[in-house]
Amino acid sequence: MLDLSQVALLGLDRTELKSLVESTGEPAYRAKQLLEAIYRQRVESVEQISTLSQDLRGRLAAKGVTVGAPRIEKRFVSQDGTVRYLIACVDGQSVETVWMPEGDGGEAGDGSEAGELAERFEERLSLRTSGIKPRSQQEPIAALKRDAGQRQGQRQRLNQRPQGQNQGRSTICISSQVGCAVDCQFCLTALLGVKRNLTAGEIVGQVCAVLKEQKVSPPENRINLVFMGMGEPFLNYENFVKAARLLVEEVGIAERRMTVSTAGIVPRIHDFAKEKIRPKLAISLNAPNDELRTRIMPLNKKWNLEMLMAAARAYPLRTREWITFEYVLLGGVNDAPENAKEVSELLRGMRCKVNLIALNPGPGVEFTTPGMERVTEFQAILREAGIPAFVRRPRGRDIYAACGQLKRTVEIATAQER
Ligand code: SF4
Repeated sequence: MLDLSQVALLGLDRTELKSLVESTGEPAYRAKQLLEAIYRQRVESVEQISTLSQDLRGRLAAKGVTVGAPRIEKRFVSQDGTVRYLIACVDGQSVETVWMPEGDGGEAGDGSEAGELAERFEERLSLRTSGIKPRSQQEPIAALKRDAGQRQGQRQRLNQRPQGQNQGRSTICISSQVGCAVDCQFCLTALLGVKRNLTAGEIVGQVCAVLKEQKVSPPENRINLVFMGMGEPFLNYENFVKAARLLVEEVGIAERRMTVSTAGIVPRIHDFAKEKIRPKLAISLNAPNDELRTRIMPLNKKWNLEMLMAAARAYPLRTREWITFEYVLLGGVNDAPENAKEVSELLRGMRCKVNLIALNPGPGVEFTTPGMERVTEFQAILREAGIPAFVRRPRGRDIYAACGQLKRTVEIATAQER
């Protein structure tokens, strides 16, 4: 017999909800009503599920059934419109989730310049493979930049609209664990260590909370999702995969608009390749050889570059899909032209792109941010080798919401002051 006092509805799928309603003697169609209420209307309590009778709501609540929706505890708003949310789970732990009103700065379709360049690249790639001539035969990068400039103007106009109306191509960056065990040396989350895995409900709940707060809904609003917040999704694999499925099937976010980033948990890359619903794959590369990568990312000792690249090369890509390699540039460490040449060799022949991220600084991280000319040179070397490379513009750096910064900064800074 199902113990209803332990049940949180958020995170349950269609089959689980069906058995729940049947255990209360209710007809199976109630499961559909629950799905609609939890994932589409995004109710926060059983009492708010207006499609259920008062009597049933009362019975469920009396038995201790909850929605289990995480609660937004704090908001930090950046000058660029990015919002970093501190979201509290029911046990008092909290995670960070970021809302970027105009993209995440690097994924196709995310509205950022790098995202738009990537999107055009994707378009060109598909035209090339289909044998159709591309829209423009002009020098490609110049043409891409010109288009990105025009879209920048559009973005500025969109930003002047009230909340809820300017969410053409927004991105939500979500967390998969409280803290992280991977220990990347440039990342503030690593300083927290890992506290626990998030449940599928807590992962989906972050998205529901932000959609509700921002008054947007897919598919009417184009929402991109990146699993790039706190934690390593592939170390919380089952919950991550279930959450991705719920987000596609119940919340309505398109699978092609989701990207999961891994630091390189090789066995899970092989598992992920077999999933029916799978977001696009991004791999945090950050170094072109084992010596350097082990220094920056100690997990490289366990799964070295040879193993990682073998998994990436074997990964089955769908039509119009490529692997994204993320490369955080650390001044004087991994940003030399020779490193760029090594990266080109490593990725030669792969259907991939590289997102370059100049280090986002933070308290407790010893590396420095390279100058823009160094970043541009690195990018140029990759492009000359035929590898699409994009520089991600930092989002929400002033509120510690940029890549590698998400990390309950107040807690870390306070701990260091003690
Ligand atoms: S970069 Fe990602 S995987 Fe590495 S420590 Fe930070 S959160 Fe964990």
